[in-house]
Amino acid sequence: MEHETRFEDFIVTARKWRPLHFKDVVGQDHITTTLRNAITNKRIHHAYLFSGPRGVGKTTTARILARAVNCLNPDGEEPCNECASCLPILEGRSLDVIEIDGASNNSVDDIRKLRENAKYPPAAGNYKLYIIDEVHMLSTSAFNALLKTLEEPPPHLMFVFATTESHKLPATILSRCQRFEFHRMEIDKITGQLRTIAKKEGIEIDDESLITIAKKADGSMRDSQSIFDQVVAFCGKKIEYSEMADALHLIDVDFYFRITNAVTDRNLNEMFSIAKEVIVKGYDFQECLSGLLEHLRNLLTVRVTGRTDLIDSSGSYLNKYDTESKKFSKADLLRLMNIASTTEQALRFAPQPRIRFEMALVQMASLDNSIEITELLSELKELKKKPLNVVNGSNSAPQSAKNFEREPVPEFKSNIQPVIKSVSDSDLSLDENLLSLPTDVQEIQENILAATPELVTGTDSGKKITEQELKKNWKTFVEKYATADSDISALKQYKVIKPEFFNGEIILKTANEFLTGNLEKKKTALSNALLDFFKVHVKLKIITDESVGNGTIVDVAFSDSITIDLAEDFVDKEIEPPSSTDVNSSHKDISGKHPIEKTIVELFNAKEIKRNSH
Ligand SMILES: [Zn+2]
Repeated sequence: MEHETRFEDFIVTARKWRPLHFKDVVGQDHITTTLRNAITNKRIHHAYLFSGPRGVGKTTTARILARAVNCLNPDGEEPCNECASCLPILEGRSLDVIEIDGASNNSVDDIRKLRENAKYPPAAGNYKLYIIDEVHMLSTSAFNALLKTLEEPPPHLMFVFATTESHKLPATILSRCQRFEFHRMEIDKITGQLRTIAKKEGIEIDDESLITIAKKADGSMRDSQSIFDQVVAFCGKKIEYSEMADALHLIDVDFYFRITNAVTDRNLNEMFSIAKEVIVKGYDFQECLSGLLEHLRNLLTVRVTGRTDLIDSSGSYLNKYDTESKKFSKADLLRLMNIASTTEQALRFAPQPRIRFEMALVQMASLDNSIEITELLSELKELKKKPLNVVNGSNSAPQSAKNFEREPVPEFKSNIQPVIKSVSDSDLSLDENLLSLPTDVQEIQENILAATPELVTGTDSGKKITEQELKKNWKTFVEKYATADSDISALKQYKVIKPEFFNGEIILKTANEFLTGNLEKKKTALSNALLDFFKVHVKLKIITDESVGNGTIVDVAFSDSITIDLAEDFVDKEIEPPSSTDVNSSHKDISGKHPIEKTIVELFNAKEIKRNSH
């Protein structure tokens, strides 16, 4: 019969790889060194208190200590783990080493029984040793009963108390113990240990998986090994990060990168998809937010220090953090972290967590670029006042200049130049310091660039037009060009045609097929008019959208962002479209007509027939 691995053969990793020597205990050198010295110098205390988080080696160390002090054939201060004293202890059948769970044996009677047994000397070794786990669970009277033994212990008696909550122990007990604080395991200690185990077990596992397991174990070596077992059970001998993330139902790091990308792209659609995915995949909102918080913290760390060795992530992601962190300013990252942490807390009480979660994501994607821009804004506002009057003196400028934020950023510096010129030329005194850019300008430019939505670029001139600009000037454009007897008079229906940007094209939405058809025929004329007015070549698309509705007024207000006025903008906008006097002169006066009548006149370029009645 072929040999098969039976269920009984399987030993959980934490037990299988439990350290058997002081030297194998990971991450608690300050304790093992002291204990080894005590053994060498034969200065063994009769009561030790091991405190620290769960799964960091308290019980393991206590057992090694128990064997070390009783070993018949010790190797220095390490136990041999083979002698007549070591073996029974290892197998848990020793009469000299007794482990007690303080949580279930916490009554005064339990301790009285212990005291009775403690009187008898050890059977095999030098010491009778009691290991009391979770000792803080003992009742007050149990502690009092224990105290008597601790005050006058027989020479063969030793205690090791282990606890995760040493502050719950009475001072009288604490003062009679030699105390050792076990440390939480650092990520690299855990990954190191897991890597060793994996190697010995012939399991292939990538760094990202190791780090993820270690993080999830939250400083506990034992937990990390349980998780490791779980992952091996799911993935087998070859563990890859994505498969493991599934096994542990973890949220992928890439998922967090998607969120931060949506922030830089200001992609609200993506945010809603992400929220939906969280629900579909059954992730916990709170867990997702705390993961996001850690992700943002990583970005911030790399952004501030320029180093990736301070974050717990692996190779490929380190590079990604390095690249992505450059897209954010420190202030932005702090604001995002603020949203994530407030939401994480608010979620505990939110009756509709999904809505609260979506709100946070949308809020993140709608954030304006940082405070630094606000600072820049106030400086530029000061600056704007004077040159504005000099350059044109018109009041159309301020409204057309609200586009800095979405302007192509590389032109920023050169944009500033003409202002300086025009000011000094016109002999207006202006403090030169006002014009000096904040040192963070480079950074702000980067931020803006990262967050700039699409622009429609002129094909020949290199000039660009923003959606805001388009919307803002649409009305003016229509009034100038779409006169009743021009080719594009249908455009006069600007009340029902919405200009929008999509994929670098201008989309005109009309309320009905007829209007669409009409405009479609005039596309060339329309493009020419746009070129004439906005000085850019744009791609046009005309579509029917019944939701546009009759008489829906185009909403030209677009004020959800910080805007900065740039003087060069004003100059540009002052280029008037060529006067079309011939067109204007024949413009029919149809104001004051019934809206339907107006529409008909404009749509069909109709002429009014005077009626005799009335
Ligand atoms: Zn031994």
